[in-house]
Amino acid sequence: MTAQQTYDVVVVGGGPAGATAANDLARTGLNVVLLDRAGRIKPCGGAVPPRLLKDFEIPESLVVARCRAARIIAPSKKEVDMPIDGGFVGMVDREVFDEWLRARAVAGGAQRRTGTFERIERDPDGMAVVVYETRGESGNMLSSRLRARAVIGADGANSAVAKQSIPNRAKPKHVFAYHEIIKPPKDQGFDGTRCDIYYQEAVSPDFYGWIFPHGETASVGVGSARKGFSLKGATHELRVRSGLTECETIRKEGAPIPLKPLKKWDNNKDIVLAGDAAGVVAPASGEGIYYAMCGGRLAADAVMEYLATGESRALAMARKRFMKKHGMVFWILGIMQYFWYSSDKRRERFVKMCDDPDVQKLTWESYMNKELVRRDPLAHVRIFFADLGHLFGVAKT
Ligand SMILES: Cc1cc2nc3c(=O)[nH]c(=O)nc-3n(C[C@H](O)[C@H](O)[C@H](O)COP(=O)(O)OP(=O)(O)OC[C@H]3O[C@@H](n4cnc5c(N)ncnc54)[C@H](O)[C@@H]3O)c2cc1C
Repeated sequence: MTAQQTYDVVVVGGGPAGATAANDLARTGLNVVLLDRAGRIKPCGGAVPPRLLKDFEIPESLVVARCRAARIIAPSKKEVDMPIDGGFVGMVDREVFDEWLRARAVAGGAQRRTGTFERIERDPDGMAVVVYETRGESGNMLSSRLRARAVIGADGANSAVAKQSIPNRAKPKHVFAYHEIIKPPKDQGFDGTRCDIYYQEAVSPDFYGWIFPHGETASVGVGSARKGFSLKGATHELRVRSGLTECETIRKEGAPIPLKPLKKWDNNKDIVLAGDAAGVVAPASGEGIYYAMCGGRLAADAVMEYLATGESRALAMARKRFMKKHGMVFWILGIMQYFWYSSDKRRERFVKMCDDPDVQKLTWESYMNKELVRRDPLAHVRIFFADLGHLFGVAKT
């Protein structure tokens, strides 16, 4: 069977990365298909920075809660409040947010297909053919094909497109994250404008646990890469420690979070990856939505250049531009996670460090604006020495 029509681009995966790529491409007039398997809400804490709302023109109505502070809890149960001066951490509901992004791409001209990506075949002329399974009207499974000049693999952390298409791809490292969506108590001191972050061995031996308010609901979860560590048990423990055991549980779900950007995102021909499929989640924080959308946009730019010039090497620009902009932050966060999340003794010192107003200011400014703060060099110096003090244990805890 030969696919008939040739599309400019098939985007596999309709999460933040794929929907952003499809929207950007379709709005330039290209003939774009957005293929998503649908039917599952992405397990996610839903925390997004204000910069995301601005860069990707997201309406305020999609923000279900605004956190004005974070509370960091140490192994000793010592709590440090980190108020956000003049800003917020936004919370989105992924069921609504992702669907809104997909609908925007369709409004921009993308065609939507529902189905599960199976494989990429090649027509005799070398053109990619995306083969996917879809459910027919009588419920039977049908195999369908989309012939495409270029393909974007934005199908998440377990990307089948990446597995099949990227040469010499090393097996990506992951943290596994699990959360429970609960109905928090309305009148028993639950603060719907604050995120709680637990740095405690029992909650996570190598990552952290969180409680993120989502308006009517909240996400309570943990992450860990340690084999055999019970994420469900740790989430239960977190609910015990935070007094949230009696609340109604609406959903329980988990998914892997990639730990490191892949070394290569394209196949040297006509396929490029974006988002979790490319491994772009910030270490230490696990923040992936903003970076997925950036990756989707950069993949779209690279594909446009490729389609305009026929030069396959244009596809490599997606990774190059991403790493130029965010590589340093990922590197710093990677070291931070490796060092500070490795024992309760270090976690205790890390939480103590978060009490420093300079640390708080730089943390929030970097998070909200997604840029390393450069305008107060003295603050960096103060933090550097405070950091060294904590690192070598000479600062008081
Ligand atoms: C428990 C948890 C909590 C998290 N909390 C946060 C947080 O608070 N803030 C934050 O910024 N990040 C968070 N993340 C990370 C964030 O969710 C991801 O980084 C982000 O969703 C990546 O977007 P994406 O578009 O690359 O992939 P995804 O959101 O995973 O989207 C992939 C899409 O591809 C589709 N797909 C997959 N396979 C196929 C197939 N074979 N055929 C067709 N379609 C397919 C899926 O249906 C999905 O729509 C969290 C992750 C987890 C697991």
